[in-house]
Amino acid sequence: MVAWGHPKYRAQQVYNWIRQQGVTDVALMTNLPQTLRAQLSEFSKPRSLEIAAEMVSKDGTIKRAYRCADGQMIESVLMPYKDGRYTACISSQAGCAQGCVFCATGQMGFARQLTADEIFEQVAIFANELQQQKDQQQYIDAGGQEIQHGRATRLSNVVFMGMGEPLANYRNVVKAVNRITNDLGIGARKITVSTVGIVPNIVKLTTDPDMPPIRLAVSLHCASDKERSDLLPANRRYGGLDELMPALRDYIETTGRRITLEWALIQGENDNADSARTLASLVQRYGLRRDMVHVNVIPLNPTGGFEGTPTQRQNVNVFVKTLEEHGIACTPRVRRGIDIDAGCGQLTSKIQKKEAHELQSFIPSINSASSIVGVYEDDATVDDDDAAHNFVLHSNSVDFESDEWDDPTFSSDADEQEAARIIALVQGTTIKLDELE
Ligand code: SF4
Repeated sequence: MVAWGHPKYRAQQVYNWIRQQGVTDVALMTNLPQTLRAQLSEFSKPRSLEIAAEMVSKDGTIKRAYRCADGQMIESVLMPYKDGRYTACISSQAGCAQGCVFCATGQMGFARQLTADEIFEQVAIFANELQQQKDQQQYIDAGGQEIQHGRATRLSNVVFMGMGEPLANYRNVVKAVNRITNDLGIGARKITVSTVGIVPNIVKLTTDPDMPPIRLAVSLHCASDKERSDLLPANRRYGGLDELMPALRDYIETTGRRITLEWALIQGENDNADSARTLASLVQRYGLRRDMVHVNVIPLNPTGGFEGTPTQRQNVNVFVKTLEEHGIACTPRVRRGIDIDAGCGQLTSKIQKKEAHELQSFIPSINSASSIVGVYEDDATVDDDDAAHNFVLHSNSVDFESDEWDDPTFSSDADEQEAARIIALVQGTTIKLDELE
């Protein structure tokens, strides 16, 4: 502002428009002089991410592909809840070097680290859009119930479970988390950083004064080194469970915070009572306090390059009950945006059939939403202060008869309509599911 000949306070005004009002159109920043608005229009952009594609699930989940300034593609997902709250699932890297075999992002390889700005922006964009919805709601319905509804519409949680391994982009993730808490007012306890187990950075995180007290989630998936290394090569790279589990124990003891262990249930692999017992004994063997460990189980999201299939609902039940019998709280999570994730799985085969090589570079970034194995329902029921309460509730927390378990990813091929949507998406068109139905 000063370089352009304006007073310093103009910077705060612009910032307020963008962050507090959610307004990114310079023309609407009415308290700025015309000259400044013209300069901003010509020389600045309120964001660096452009929406390249968007898919909207029947359950309201929105999945977006963003194009970064250098052309890299990343993804974010917004998941709504019935009480008006929203969770954003964001990416920390373009691609990923960890190579988890069930993950489409892992199959595509690593492109680059995202900057702190790019990470923050994914959250800020959703927060701003929800802010706008709230304002519209309040403006249109100047009455009791509607105003309350508008107030409840807000971004409340953030999970680092999109593309990339957040602890492999540690510095930028710390910066972004600080901005999310400071600028957007989302509490650190509402931010979950999910890692495959980058042990040195779990150790760093344990005492890092610069990192706000986020929730830590670890993709465990298997309780033996052999099985885990087969699924997650990072297990071998970082010294196996002998390194990971003590690091988690120290994290719990030093921070006093509970951790989440994520467990993607794969049919016939890790979804039976024996697997649950092995997990319980792993926790015990390494001295982790059972009341400080929470396990989230979620059926695997299948991807084209991995043969494993999601477990059946009865196995989820057995797994959860067995863990709880061993004193470990466990929540089965319902996958969100199932229909659009199914689209991701179908994308690869459709494109391969057509041998559309020019599209291949775009496949991984779209397909990578299936990397959000472990994106789960909001953690409101998993409050650190309420562990005993949760422990009782968990086995009843999912209605297995619910329609939500009629999961189309359990069934087979894409139909033509789905294929058309996917092709349009790959070609960079923003298209909504409803428009094709
Ligand atoms: S699951 Fe996460 S860490 Fe593993 S390859 Fe996928 S994005 Fe990377």
